[in-house]
Amino acid sequence: MKKILFAAAEGAPFYKTGGLGDVMYALPKALAGKSDLDIRVVLPYYASLMPEQYQKQLKDVTNFEIKVGQNSRYVGIKSLQLGQVLYYFIDNLEYFGRDGLYGYGDDGERFGFYQMALIEMLEKVDFIPDVLHINDWHTAFIPVLLQDKYSWLAPLRNIKTILTIHNIKFQGVYDPIILDSIFGIGRQYFNEQGFKYYDAVNFMKGGIEFADKVTTVSPSYAAEIQTPEFGEGLDGILRENSYKLTGFLNGIDTELYDPQTDKNIAINYSIQDFDKQKAKNKVQLQKELNLPQEDVPLLILISRLTRQKGLDIFLAMLDDFLVLHHVQIALLGTGDSDLENDFKWMQERYPAQFSANIRFDEKLAQQMYAAGDLILVPSAFEPCGLSQMMGMRYGAVPVVHETGGLRDTVPPYNEYTNEGLGFSFASFDAQTLNQVLSYAYDIFTQKPAAFKQIVERDMRADFSWKKSAELYLGMYRELWQN
Ligand code: ADP
Repeated sequence: MKKILFAAAEGAPFYKTGGLGDVMYALPKALAGKSDLDIRVVLPYYASLMPEQYQKQLKDVTNFEIKVGQNSRYVGIKSLQLGQVLYYFIDNLEYFGRDGLYGYGDDGERFGFYQMALIEMLEKVDFIPDVLHINDWHTAFIPVLLQDKYSWLAPLRNIKTILTIHNIKFQGVYDPIILDSIFGIGRQYFNEQGFKYYDAVNFMKGGIEFADKVTTVSPSYAAEIQTPEFGEGLDGILRENSYKLTGFLNGIDTELYDPQTDKNIAINYSIQDFDKQKAKNKVQLQKELNLPQEDVPLLILISRLTRQKGLDIFLAMLDDFLVLHHVQIALLGTGDSDLENDFKWMQERYPAQFSANIRFDEKLAQQMYAAGDLILVPSAFEPCGLSQMMGMRYGAVPVVHETGGLRDTVPPYNEYTNEGLGFSFASFDAQTLNQVLSYAYDIFTQKPAAFKQIVERDMRADFSWKKSAELYLGMYRELWQN
């Protein structure tokens, strides 16, 4: 039986801040359904953030100490079986017993510790994977460590590594002092072919150079990150490594996100009765959000509130759009405080039309997917994007910027051939966004039969992990056969 180990900094249903968390739940689950694979996942143990129902199921596996620079640090290993997937959690309260997951001044040390603890765990829990599938910068340094610091450990020498880039913007860039003060390694690979980036240590670059394969989460993004516009300074490195770079489209967990069975939504529905039932979900949501219970198009937006998500062009056209259209908009998100404040202010200005919900709330997110007629995802760049797929699954038609995974998942509506899954725009500016949103509004209000057909196509489309899980599996096979 082949052994696959996933490593990441977050994973649903334990903790999620975005798409990475969704993927760490859904992809291992999709693969575990296949015979002859032992699939496990390692995550940090963010003690106070794990829901109680899972806390109760945790088992203590072992504990030991590792060196972080000159200091000994405690490593506790806990485990939990979720369906056919075994999850390990790396416990150290000082590093992970905090209010949030990321954004601390010592993140380099926290995830440096995490990666070393993970490697040192493998022999102790007797699970040496054939393929170690790492995700984003928090785990990207592992191939470097395997090749350098831990190269003397013979049992680990045959581990093949795949790095999946979920967002190239976040790279983990630190002063080279950490080579000594955290990792305790020399400068053998601190060069242009290694993890050196200008004068700094770059975790993501190390992963790209040292992993056996590099993937990203959509074919379009795989091409985009090799250009200066999207590569965030690593485009040259990615072009050099393009022989091992591929894009596999993310999926969503179609069991968890199913309007027919979702327990979080007011009324379950299917493709047969969505128009009637969606209207009831809409009324429920309007009540909850204090919006007038009117039969108007409802536009939803569920997102981290950052510049990446195109929220500045959205804000720039919002006044005009709300004044000229009989429409309601419900927004759910947290992030940059200036954007949070701007949206709160919009709610004050347009209380009957705009609802700003500044929090992370998965239940409300599901209710919004179920109630929304249109879902807006205007991201400046988008590696894959899951919310447009979740929207389509629940019959909310996406309006997206043609970039990355948005381009790959939302073929644009063509009213002459009656094809397409949503509305999209190429030129990234407020005026163009206003035009395409107004066009979507017109189709919804003036051509309801055509709009209904788009919804039906969306709800029928296959966004499951089936295809992409096969593609990853093919890559694993290629690796363990060599
Ligand atoms: P990213 O990973 O860049 O944040 P994705 O579209 O890939 O974007 O994934 C976002 C995920 O996080 C989706 O599952 C979305 O529903 C969820 N999400 C984002 N913001 C919130 C929020 N405030 N409350 C609940 N869920 C959210």
